[in-house]
Amino acid sequence: MIEDEIKPWLLSIEPISGESLSHFLGRFRRQNHLSCSALGQLAGIGGVIARWEKFYHNPFPSDAELMALGKLLNVDLSTLRMMLPTLGDGMMCSPIRLCGACYVESPYHRLEWQYRSTGGCDRHQLRLLSKCRNCDAKLSIPALWEDGCCTRCKLPFGAMVKWQKSY
Ligand SMILES: [Zn+2]
Ligand SMILES: [Zn+2]
Repeated sequence: MIEDEIKPWLLSIEPISGESLSHFLGRFRRQNHLSCSALGQLAGIGGVIARWEKFYHNPFPSDAELMALGKLLNVDLSTLRMMLPTLGDGMMCSPIRLCGACYVESPYHRLEWQYRSTGGCDRHQLRLLSKCRNCDAKLSIPALWEDGCCTRCKLPFGAMVKWQKSY
């Protein structure tokens, strides 16, 4: 691992409160034009980034991996930990879920949508969507939510609120 080497060409971005690591890593990679493998290589943590972006957290990200990544991203360990489930908490890697009403207010994927125990959005009293109801496509992983719409039919996530039942 390369220690304390400054990477001045990398642009930092601010994590958003409640944002999932997958969504944050996607934003960071696009900003810096990095592939998953390039980011893992720069951080010295190998090929884990692509798995983490898919919510595959087994084996669970170690402090050492997260600190190496955080140094590169300019984000501290506790902030990265908050973008991940607490070890042992039930998390679904599939389907990716969405509250369209939340997305309209602030366009990012919330970690809490992936908890098994989350039945709906408490803020809007709406059930979460687990696919695009317009074309039946699965929602892509949050790391790829660049355009904020269904990858197949291009319906904006915010417009999907009409299919969310009250909760
Ligand atoms: Zn909501
Ligand atoms: Zn669609």
